[in-house]
Amino acid sequence: NAKAAGRNRFAIFGPHMDDLVQDRRELEGDLRLAVRNRRDLEVYFQPVYAAPNGALYGAEALLRWKHPARGLISPEVFIPIAEECGVITQLGDLVLEEACLAAQRWPDLEIAINASPLELRNEAYALRVIAAVNKHKIDPARLEIEITEGTLLDSAGECQRNIEALRSVGVRIALDDFGTGFSGFGRLQYVAVDRIKIDKSFVDGFDSQEAGNRAIVEAMIRLARAKGLKTTAEGVETEEQRAILKELGCDHLQGYLLSKPMTKDAFDRMVGTNVIDLQAKR
Ligand code: C2E
Ligand code: MG
Ligand code: MG
Ligand code: MG
Repeated sequence: NAKAAGRNRFAIFGPHMDDLVQDRRELEGDLRLAVRNRRDLEVYFQPVYAAPNGALYGAEALLRWKHPARGLISPEVFIPIAEECGVITQLGDLVLEEACLAAQRWPDLEIAINASPLELRNEAYALRVIAAVNKHKIDPARLEIEITEGTLLDSAGECQRNIEALRSVGVRIALDDFGTGFSGFGRLQYVAVDRIKIDKSFVDGFDSQEAGNRAIVEAMIRLARAKGLKTTAEGVETEEQRAILKELGCDHLQGYLLSKPMTKDAFDRMVGTNVIDLQAKR
């Protein structure tokens, strides 16, 4: 009967669920340790290029967790865990610090970091960012904070206050993964941002069946221009995508076609500033 079947199902799935919960607890514990000891966490940088001439323009800081036993764990997996177990602020601070150091090392580049909605909901967020910028004596306009549409939906208004405080000192705000959330175009009326980052899912469709994507991206770029916003296309993987985006007037390009995220040292080698380091070590 149904009851027996139910019990049976429990017998089959029960241990499996326990494993998942156990697994998750273990990861949480490991992440706490990694954050506390500043261990196994490394900030990578993905170059961003100017679309018209291909010149190096900046870099996005992307966090990596190299788990000692499980290997590389994606931020798509560990950022939500960090948010749930309350270490996202420490992670954000770590990335902010590395981003400021990067801005010092690469004086001609703009550095972008990703901020979780939870971070922006904290009333002290803008103050922490501004303190870091001041401490490292970098031009605030060279730091960009990437937020998601979810952040803009915050009803308490704390996120908006942080955004306004940051922009008032010159820090830039970018709307990440643009087009994938629920707010989209409408929300741009209420919150002032400096840039939209067109999500990879729209760029993907260019060279496939989804001809509609090109029209959507065209509309996004036109809207951004009308509002005086910069545009970055993420996830550019083919020459064809690059050519179309350039033609549509997209400002900046980011993607595996141009470069994958890399370590700070690899980035140094690429831009050639490692000379300074070598001199310091002698
Ligand atoms: P995102 O901010 O949209 O970052 C872009 C993601 O696309 C990165 O994945 C990047 O490596 C990947 N990507 C770039 N170009 C290409 C391409 O041509 N093809 C493909 N397939 N992928 C490309 P990543 O580094 O795994 O990060 C995933 C997400 O995790 C980020 O998405 C961001 O939302 C979040 N994240 C990463 N670092 C941080 C961080 O320090 N703090 C917070 N709060 N979130 C972070
Ligand atoms: Mg981003
Ligand atoms: Mg993105
Ligand atoms: Mg994304």
